[in-house]
Amino acid sequence: MDEVLNGLDLDYPEWVDALSEKFGLQRYRADQVCQWIYQKKVFDFYEMTNLSKDLRQKLAGSIVITPPVLARMETSKDGTRKFLWQLQDGESVESVLLVQQGRLTACLSTQVGCPLSCAFCASGKSGFVRNLSTGEITGQFLAMEKLTGQDIDNIVYMGMGEPFLNQEAVFKSIRILNEPKMRGLGIRHFTISTAGVVPGILALAEMKIPVRLSVSLHAPNDQLRSKLMPINKQYPLSTLMEALRKYQSATKDRITIEYLMMNGVNDSTEHAYELATLLSGLSVYVNLIPYNSVPGGNFKRSTDGRIKAFADILSKLNIECEIRRERGSDINAACGQLRRVMNQ
Ligand code: SAH
Repeated sequence: MDEVLNGLDLDYPEWVDALSEKFGLQRYRADQVCQWIYQKKVFDFYEMTNLSKDLRQKLAGSIVITPPVLARMETSKDGTRKFLWQLQDGESVESVLLVQQGRLTACLSTQVGCPLSCAFCASGKSGFVRNLSTGEITGQFLAMEKLTGQDIDNIVYMGMGEPFLNQEAVFKSIRILNEPKMRGLGIRHFTISTAGVVPGILALAEMKIPVRLSVSLHAPNDQLRSKLMPINKQYPLSTLMEALRKYQSATKDRITIEYLMMNGVNDSTEHAYELATLLSGLSVYVNLIPYNSVPGGNFKRSTDGRIKAFADILSKLNIECEIRRERGSDINAACGQLRRVMNQ
């Protein structure tokens, strides 16, 4: 018997090939199927009414389309929604849907758990289980659009996991959701966030696809950064900065720097000056993120005064920065609060 294909894992050329090889179908059939899945959010071949009954049956017998199943949804008082999805093997991941000035941003997970064990983040605390498949990544997005009945404007790979440790599936998910015959989401509407996995940054630089890049920096020197983020021992700041310079000269694109504000840890005026020196010569936009409490976390959010003083120094040194308003923290949907199991 033929192997059953997972439809959400296929990119457009793969759909065209699969339908032509298996059933001798022409390209426009692939266009129709992709339109049902990615635009109408119809995942059952039997509902694809512009295909013959016979064809629907054949397709259903050899291709499955299985977006993640909603296990739970919570809505924050600011409108942020958090979704817990159950995957085919019983594992689960979370995604978040943010509303900002009427625009919807989907924050997608790329791994079940996370192997990086950053000291301040909940995602790593429950360990690493596995990478998500391409279809499990795009599936989070499609399932959110189907459930809410709304078109989502932006995607940020800032959920659970490290996108550059699951690079192939992440890049493929971008290709699929960007493809005009599929979802057609503009390439500038995708942002990859990394804890500093240098080979991924260099791969993105080489591909020259203008996806936005965001780097979780959180400390301006190796000593502190290695303590907070063990990945820094593998890719220390000098290596990371060199990769960012390469990325920038290849793409000419501004880089977002995420900097968590943790009281008495990384938020002094000296740290601000050190950060400015580290970033000099790069075109960046710094997001200062007040630390969100996570269960078992032993950090405290910086005071408003310290955050403002830090921001003022960066601005004075001509580094553009913004203090990020937190979203969804009342339902543990804010940065660093995503886990494999909801609210435990
Ligand atoms: N691994 C990638 C993608 C995850 S993005 C990365 O690190 O960029 C999640 C973002 O939330 C990262 O910037 C992360 O550093 C930040 N974060 C983690 N724990 C946090 C916390 N307790 N409060 C606020 N932000 C946190």
